[in-house]
Amino acid sequence: MNLHEYQAREILRRHGIPISAGEVAETPNQARDIAQRLGGRVVVKAQVHVGGRGKAGGVKLAAGPDEAKAHAARILGMKIKGLTVHKVLVAPATDIASESYVGIIVDRASQRPVLMVSAAGGIDIEEVAAGTPERIHRLAVDPRYGLLAHQALGLAFQLHRDLGRARATADIMRKLYTAFYAAGASLMEINPLATTPTGHVVALDAKIVIDDNELDRRPEIAVLRDISAEAPSEVQAREAGLTFIKLEGTVGCCVNGAGLAMATMDLVKYYGGAPANFLDIGGSSNPQKVVEALKIITADPHVRAILFNIFGGITRCDDVANGIVQATQQFPLHVPLVIRLTGTNEAEAVGILTRAGFSALTDMDDAVKQAVAKAAGGAGGA
Ligand code: GDP
Ligand code: MN
Repeated sequence: MNLHEYQAREILRRHGIPISAGEVAETPNQARDIAQRLGGRVVVKAQVHVGGRGKAGGVKLAAGPDEAKAHAARILGMKIKGLTVHKVLVAPATDIASESYVGIIVDRASQRPVLMVSAAGGIDIEEVAAGTPERIHRLAVDPRYGLLAHQALGLAFQLHRDLGRARATADIMRKLYTAFYAAGASLMEINPLATTPTGHVVALDAKIVIDDNELDRRPEIAVLRDISAEAPSEVQAREAGLTFIKLEGTVGCCVNGAGLAMATMDLVKYYGGAPANFLDIGGSSNPQKVVEALKIITADPHVRAILFNIFGGITRCDDVANGIVQATQQFPLHVPLVIRLTGTNEAEAVGILTRAGFSALTDMDDAVKQAVAKAAGGAGGA
């Protein structure tokens, strides 16, 4: 789950990291009022779940309330990387002498939280990684000990020669590590971590991604979810109890079990196609879940064929078949459907599907080949 910058700032502030809270506005007049209250120069920032807002014109400095209002008017409603801006953060502006990057991610390779720092701050870390990877310094943290003082200071010296600034930076890194663990994050990033002309080290931006699996035991963080900022298909899938990830291909996949879903996507690729999504209807199924799954898959205009791959165990093939029939009665499918199912109540399922005018396959390779061919327009027809 992605947090907005204003929410991330609040979490970092609670852990003692120097970052101003600012306030959120949904209208230009609110932005003006906040700037008035704060006094002095402010920064007006688009609150959307993407980086690179600065480059896209979503971060603007304002000398006073009227300019803040004008910037808010321009930024609200703006689209950044496909996402519409509904809110802006208005925060006190800071004078910047230098910008660095500090971030923590969960690294699967080392199975540890990895702290990453770079003196090349302010720009996207992906750009630094691609162009000048030697400018990124990493440390895999042993979770038994946490981030130790000398380790943090060692990394901080990669960013600053001045002892005072290095110490302040190391202190921020250790607080960030504590916040990272406490929030159940998979990523926490401060970019830029700025130095002011007077030598203070302050965070000017904050990005946090929470591991969804950590939300059940952190209701105070779960409530921060902003559905209006998420992809509608993924929201719909989550509410229906489906695991869904949208991809770029043309073969819509509806599968039971994450492992089989992965294997199905591999096989689609193997036979020359591209999956339009990952979709796991879960271990147990009911017809309604299948109806919801088909709604989500068919809403994607790139889908040219839909492939069902069901290995009946706890999931009953007849439940899935009933779901397919109910869905096609509720809304017409405009793309061909290829159904493979085998296992629990397979015979009943084949009966249900045949009576409704569908055919079902039992071989996975055959089904995937057919779906790929239909998506390519080869075999055609529904
Ligand atoms: P991002 O582009 O989405 O990462 O948004 P940021 O919050 O990181 O802002 C982009 C850039 O705007 C930063 O790298 C800074 O150079 C600049 N910026 C942000 N806040 C301030 C501020 O308070 N004062 C000044 N002078 N520049 C700022
Ligand atoms: Mn940033």
